[in-house]
Amino acid sequence: MARKPLRPAHHEGRQLNGSDAKRGAGGACPQGRLDALLAEIRACVICRDHPRGAPLPHAPRPVVRAKASARIAICGQAPGVRVHASGVPFTDPSGVRLRAWLGMDEAEFYDEARVTIVPMGFCFPGLTPDGADRPPRRECAPAWRDRLFSELSGVELLFAVGRPAQLWHLGSEAGATLTATVEGWRRALGRAGRPVVAPLPHPSWRNNAWLRRNPWFEAEVLPVYRVLARAALESDFTRSMDEFRRAGTIAA
Ligand code: SF4
Repeated sequence: MARKPLRPAHHEGRQLNGSDAKRGAGGACPQGRLDALLAEIRACVICRDHPRGAPLPHAPRPVVRAKASARIAICGQAPGVRVHASGVPFTDPSGVRLRAWLGMDEAEFYDEARVTIVPMGFCFPGLTPDGADRPPRRECAPAWRDRLFSELSGVELLFAVGRPAQLWHLGSEAGATLTATVEGWRRALGRAGRPVVAPLPHPSWRNNAWLRRNPWFEAEVLPVYRVLARAALESDFTRSMDEFRRAGTIAA
């Protein structure tokens, strides 16, 4: 069945204005609404009780970090077995590489007030017979993603880490493949609306061969992503984007 909607509301440039934010669901403040939603997510058992296909092979343990004040969203695939155990995202070699790619230290990366970490599937999906992580559960994004991002209207920069996040957050503007989508990074950054979506491959060692085949990614793309991440962390994102537009680095 086709996923619907393909593009969440924040891609239409819709932002909560001050009165919207104050009104909110039941009159709660933005963080109060977000906390209530996170509590719902952490109690979710959809993939156990109402799965699409085989049920989750273990008890759900959603791993998601979000504060209403966040300026950066890291949107990966799903927790692996180590993160399933720790409950903290990217506590693995992929996290070490991702932080290096984005020029963030651990304190910044795990500063929920500035960085939200919302994978496409919140629970570890289990392993394939040959020991690889299964893809994110199909149930998760349609159940939660639009609601979650409607409470994260301050996010300026969204890193779409891997194909599932790129398809969800870029919709029909994603390329035909992951490589084509990442190659289109200048166009992706230049799209109208917020958040700005920055596509990148998953930092897993499984992508080492991809990185060797595509040296332009580390040479050309990551330096720009690092500048934008730093600017978003330091509340200087709009000026930084304007500078890149004027320089022709990203699409005007
Ligand atoms: S993966 Fe998502 S939809 Fe499935 S049980 Fe976990 S939180 Fe719920």
